Amino acid sequence: MITVVAILGLEHSGTTLLARMLGTHSAATSVGGIKNFAAFASGKKACTCGGSWGDCDFWSAVDEALEAAGRSSRDVGSAIGSGAEGGPSSRQAAQDLVRAISSATGSKILVDSSRDPLWVDMLDGATDIRTVRVHIFKTPYEQMASAKRKNRSTYKELRKYNRRSRACRRALASHDGGITIPYGAFCGAPEGFVSQIMRAAGAQLEPEQITGWGLTPLHMLGGNRMKRETRSTIRYDELWRDTLSSGEVLLARLIAGGSLRRNMDSSSRG
Ligand SMILES: [Zn+2]
Repeated sequence: MITVVAILGLEHSGTTLLARMLGTHSAATSVGGIKNFAAFASGKKACTCGGSWGDCDFWSAVDEALEAAGRSSRDVGSAIGSGAEGGPSSRQAAQDLVRAISSATGSKILVDSSRDPLWVDMLDGATDIRTVRVHIFKTPYEQMASAKRKNRSTYKELRKYNRRSRACRRALASHDGGITIPYGAFCGAPEGFVSQIMRAAGAQLEPEQITGWGLTPLHMLGGNRMKRETRSTIRYDELWRDTLSSGEVLLARLIAGGSLRRNMDSSSRG
């Protein structure tokens, strides 16, 4: 049985940090977003090791495992590229990719940070794959401030916050054992959350996951590039207080305050 820990949430909401901590476990492999495999296999995205398709040993081994299973990376990539709308052939491709990664690495625990719940649903229905669903979220204030700093529409960001939060809560409610994590609480005490996820995946926390997560080179597709860092650099981002005007804070509360409350409710139940 392969366990896929699926990290769900928004971009810039702590998903890459969590994926790195989980992937530092000796029995787990963090692959970034399987949804990015199509772009990687066609040369449009690079691996976090700096390599691209054909010159990263990790993904070359996955390529060989796919071939051994009678699949070509090109076909799997294009089927995955059509996403959840691709129907049964996309699902089959996503599941075959998971099997090939597990077979190439010998890892029974894979961490996927595709973030969008549609992707984890594509792994449903396989008898040899189970998912542990993890939803990590920041506050709408933090998401809005991060959008503002990057010159993206803050209004769209708040709407997306609502949509994605709802989709993530549904994705967790539909399966047993989902874990909901507020980013602020996670930064204060990551051990408890990482340990809870590892137990759900059938393993025990290893201290390196907390103290040395930045030191292990990983082969992740997509996600923001984080420098090799250590625990001291994990901090709760309160910059939004300086970034947002009081009017913007009010707008965020009006539009997305309800979503934040429901996310918090889910986290205290889990
Ligand atoms: Zn690589």
